[in-house]
Amino acid sequence: MPVTQSKLEPMLIDGELTESTSASRIPVYDPSTEEVIVEVADASTAEVDAAIAAARRAFDEGGWPQTTAQERGRILFRIADKIRAEAAVLAELESRNSGKPIVEAEFDMADAATCFEYYGGLATKISGTVNPVPDNALSLSMKEPVGVAGQIIPWNYPLLMAAWKLAPALAAGCTCVLKPAEQTPLTALKLAGWLGKCGVPPGVVNIVTGLGETAGAHIVAHPQVDKIAFTGSAAVGKIIMKSAADTLKRVTLELGGKSPNIFFADADFEAAIDGALFGVFINQGEVCSAGSRILVERSIYPKFVDAMTEKARAIKLGPPLDRATKMGPLVSREQFERVRQYQAIGRSEAKVAIGGGQPKSFARGYYVEPTIFYDVDNSARIAREEIFGPVAAVIPFDKESDAVRIANDSPFGLAAAVWSRDIYRALRMVRAIRAGIVWVNHMQPTYVEAPWGGYKQSGFGRELGVHGIDEYLETKQVHINLNEQPIGWY
Ligand code: NAP
Ligand code: MG
Repeated sequence: MPVTQSKLEPMLIDGELTESTSASRIPVYDPSTEEVIVEVADASTAEVDAAIAAARRAFDEGGWPQTTAQERGRILFRIADKIRAEAAVLAELESRNSGKPIVEAEFDMADAATCFEYYGGLATKISGTVNPVPDNALSLSMKEPVGVAGQIIPWNYPLLMAAWKLAPALAAGCTCVLKPAEQTPLTALKLAGWLGKCGVPPGVVNIVTGLGETAGAHIVAHPQVDKIAFTGSAAVGKIIMKSAADTLKRVTLELGGKSPNIFFADADFEAAIDGALFGVFINQGEVCSAGSRILVERSIYPKFVDAMTEKARAIKLGPPLDRATKMGPLVSREQFERVRQYQAIGRSEAKVAIGGGQPKSFARGYYVEPTIFYDVDNSARIAREEIFGPVAAVIPFDKESDAVRIANDSPFGLAAAVWSRDIYRALRMVRAIRAGIVWVNHMQPTYVEAPWGGYKQSGFGRELGVHGIDEYLETKQVHINLNEQPIGWY
């Protein structure tokens, strides 16, 4: 593929935008044209070491943890302001690089700014407690930053995932080494160029590009890194947890899902159809919480499948930068091939309501048809494995207890949604479902104010909200003796 700009994007190491000297480069694609936009470095081990050493120095000697909470907060507000000011540029870059529709990218940029604002505000609310110990002593619990955080993120919400990682870490007083996904490093690198001007001291944030198996694995194994925050596949989550065990690092894992979106016959029908499509097709289905198992009460099942199919027909596929586009191409050839494989598996496991292939209207680009399989059994591969593309598996159920059983019969437990006008039933479902979030009469809205994370093999630890900052904090007990006499034991 032609390199349209023969340019290597610099990384951020110790406050400097650094041109990598690594011989190995990673091409970054526009998935709608399959052309290379630019190249980034596949950082060498020495470069990753330099980033970690800079983060270590900034934490141990640079005074970042001692910066006042007010100052850290102000820096985060400045980052938020900068993202808002540059939102159009960032959204265009994100859309072009990831394939997501520009309108969705604009929402992501606003969310990324909001994330920095939220944690900017929270920086001054980190506080400890006084413990009521039964002695003449003052017992305190103090909150302190964990240290150097290694942060590894996926390609589906590139800048937003960077914000979810960087903002709470910085608010807590940690320093960071962030590795964006090889497919989508561009918005994080753009942000890298602004952080110094926003007041982030050298070494406090380092952004290195590179492959997961090399740069990512090196961050995870490195003895100078105190914590790993990871978002991505369950398979890589398992590798990370094993590797982090050698240095007993703190680990938080935000992994995938196979989330049930459950529709009872008494739900508002129009809203339900909309919610089923939005739940699984937003961001081309490349969403960890995608409602990819659509459970429908049998009495409305045929009508529901028909209505979903009819409405899915109107989803406008197109170039990501076209404002009319509702679904862009998948992020990469690898992901395209993966989803095409699952479409083939689905055709052998279930019935096709719509899609199941590649749209005819595009000469190039990683486009796939929005696909709805129905009469899917929950034991089918398309109901058990995360596809990470616009592929829905519709499963009928008879009773509420069947819906619960099917919903929970999954190795994952990231998210779920329940649609019903019966508040008693909806709340019974909320309690019965094993997942980190349950939406009622909605699916997908995610707010920085509220906790996010998985049950079961969807990972552990929580991001966002006040829970998100806790993952970057240690708790120190302080015991202050108030007796002036000796203990008098010996
Ligand atoms: P992935 O392989 O889990 O990658 C996520 C991040 O981890 C990337 O930055 C990746 O680097 C890095 N990584 C890979 N191997 C690593 C290792 N051994 N040590 C440390 N870091 C490592 O996910 P993906 O390749 O982007 O997509 C594969 C599947 O993951 C998807 O199809 C989907 O099922 C799932 N996924 C889930 C989420 C989610 O939000 N839950 C997001 C994206 C993907 P590279 O840049 O080299 O890949
Ligand atoms: Mg990968």
